[in-house]
Amino acid sequence: RRDERAERRDVIDLKGLTRHFQVGDQTVRALQDVSLAIPDGDYLALMGPSGSGKSTLLHILGCLDRPTSGSYVLDGHEVGSLPEGDLAEIRSRKIGFVFQFFHLVPRLTAAGNVELPMILAGIRPAERRARVAQALAAVGLTDRASHRPDQLSGGQRQRVAIARATVMGPSILLADEPTGNLDRASGREVIELIERMNRDGLTVVVVTHDPEIGGRARRILKLVDGRISSDGRPA
Ligand code: ADP
Ligand code: MG
Repeated sequence: RRDERAERRDVIDLKGLTRHFQVGDQTVRALQDVSLAIPDGDYLALMGPSGSGKSTLLHILGCLDRPTSGSYVLDGHEVGSLPEGDLAEIRSRKIGFVFQFFHLVPRLTAAGNVELPMILAGIRPAERRARVAQALAAVGLTDRASHRPDQLSGGQRQRVAIARATVMGPSILLADEPTGNLDRASGREVIELIERMNRDGLTVVVVTHDPEIGGRARRILKLVDGRISSDGRPA
């Protein structure tokens, strides 16, 4: 098993990463000396108490935020100190994000939401249409393409969000409590969908409070007070 993993290239490599927030005259040490390698195709659950730094870490992994110090190598390139414009470009091509509260655009249909990242990336309309159809089919929502978010169930909204997050063909999917706002059955559907994409090669990092979901991952990383407290296979 170990050898199998050693052969895989690390898509993410963090070394001595910190993230400090200055709040008035107080320094909040949200991440402290985090070192972490994630092989291509890994399926990692990020767990830990509220305030332990899970979202901060996910935002840095997703190039939504930058470390205060330390190194972040993504796909072989140091990205920890890149300017925002370059980070946005990397984000658009390599990273998909899924959030607890979906973050869909309310006035756009399911298809319109999935199309959005491709419009921002300058992809032509004919190709956009084809890829929207493909992405909605992949999450089982072909028949809901013209529905707005308020005409969809929570589980369906999250599946639209997953279609939007993956339509650009990212190598990494980052999900911050993707089932936190769903009933059990819809939550299971969403996690099974994410797992199917992982089996097809997508690297997945899921923040969760749910031990059952954590237990499904290949690897559980626990954060306490901004530090990694354990990292290993689920029991
Ligand atoms: P978690 O997702 O594990 O609940 P967070 O990563 O959101 O934790 O937060 C970690 C710590 O960093 C907390 O103490 C939080 O208050 C602090 N923090 C997060 N974001 C900011 C920010 N933008 N400004 C100041 N402090 C922040
Ligand atoms: Mg959080």
